[in-house]
Amino acid sequence: LTILGIETSCDETAAAVVAREVDGRGTILGEVVLSQLDEHSAYGGVVPEIAARAHVEALDTLIGQALARAGKTLDDVDAIAATSGPGLIGGLIVGLMTGKAIARAKGKPLYAVNHLEGHALTARLTDGLPFPYLMLLVSGGHTQLVLVRGVGDYERWGTTIDDALGEAFDKTAKLLGLPYPGGPAVEKAAETGNPDRFSFPRPLVGEKRLDFSFSGLKTAVRQAAQSIEPVTDQDIADICASFQKAVARTLKDRIGRGLERFRQEFPTAADPALVVAGGVAANKVLRSTLQELCDRNRFRFVAPPLSLCTDNAAMIAWAGLERMAVGLSPDDLTVAPRSRWPLDEDAAAKLGSGK
Ligand code: ATP
Ligand code: MG
Ligand code: FE
Repeated sequence: LTILGIETSCDETAAAVVAREVDGRGTILGEVVLSQLDEHSAYGGVVPEIAARAHVEALDTLIGQALARAGKTLDDVDAIAATSGPGLIGGLIVGLMTGKAIARAKGKPLYAVNHLEGHALTARLTDGLPFPYLMLLVSGGHTQLVLVRGVGDYERWGTTIDDALGEAFDKTAKLLGLPYPGGPAVEKAAETGNPDRFSFPRPLVGEKRLDFSFSGLKTAVRQAAQSIEPVTDQDIADICASFQKAVARTLKDRIGRGLERFRQEFPTAADPALVVAGGVAANKVLRSTLQELCDRNRFRFVAPPLSLCTDNAAMIAWAGLERMAVGLSPDDLTVAPRSRWPLDEDAAAKLGSGK
C-alpha cells in the first residue's frame, strides 16, 4: 500500500509518499517539509493568517516534489491522508481541501488524520514498535503523556494545565531577549550556565496525577531576570541552565510516575517503551533525562530522528496507512477540519460510530 500524506496544521507545509509492506514495515519513498519559520520569526510566534497563505502558495509544489522524489504519480498512490486537526484552522482547511480535491479527482479514498495520531504512531514507522507503549509529546502547542494501546486506541494520561513545554522555552527566551524560536536559544545559552544558581519551582512534582504545569516556571524566570540589574550574558546563561534543570526534574517526576503506572497496567508487556515526539525532543538535557529514567526503569527509550519528531507529512501518511491496515473506513468527503480534536475523543467517537 502506498499513500500520499499532507500536513498543514501549523507552520510547516509538508507532503510525503509512504509505503507499507504486508509485514507492517514502512518506508518513506519521498518527503518534503517547508518550514515557515522565517516568515513568522519577526513576530515572535506563528501568525495564523500568514501561515494559511503560505500553505496555499507552497502545497501544490510540495506535493509534486514529494511524488517526484518517490518516483510516483497521483495515479500510483492507493489513498490520500491529510491532517484535519487539531491546529490552526486556516492551514487545516488548505490541506484538507487539497486532499479532498485529489481524492475526488483521482477516485482515491481519503483519510482525515488527527495530527496527534501522526506523532503517536511515528515510532512504529521508524522502529516497528509493538503496542502498547507510552508517548511523550512535547512541542510548541502540546505537552501530553499518552498511552498508545493500538491504532485509534489512545488514552491521555497527562496534559499541561497551562503552557506547553515548547511555549515555556519560547516565553523564557523572549523574557531574556533571546531569539525565536526559544528552545534552541535557551539550550545554547544554558551550555555555559550554572544550573544551581537559581532554584526554580518544579510544579506538580510529587502529585499523583500525571499532568504538567509550566507557567509558574516562566514567572519565576521573569522575577529572577528582574532581580538582576544589569543582566549579563552569564546571568542569562545561569537562568537558562537553571530553567532546564527545573524542567528536567519535573519531567523525571511526572514521566517516572507514568512508567510506574504503565508497569502496573501492563505487567506482562514484553518490550515496554517510551517514545518522545515534538520539537522539544531536540533538547539534549531532556533526552539524557528521559534516557536515564528509562534505563533505570528498564524501559526502551525511542527518540525518532528529529525530522520525524517535528511536524512532517510522513507521519500523517503513516497514520493513514495504519488505519487502512486495520480496516478502518476512509472518511467521507464532507469531513470538516477541527481546530480542537483530542486524541482519546477520536477513539471514543470512532468506536461509537462503528467506523
Ligand atoms: P504543534 O506541533 O504542537 O502544533 P509546534 O509546531 O510549535 O506545535 P514543533 O514544531 O514540534 O511544535 O516544535 C517547536 C517547539 O520546539 C518550539 O516551542 C521550540 O522552542 C521547541 N524547541 C525546538 N528545539 C528545541 C530545543 N533544542 N530545546 C527546547 N525546545 C526546543
Ligand atoms: Mg512547528
Ligand atoms: Fe506537531
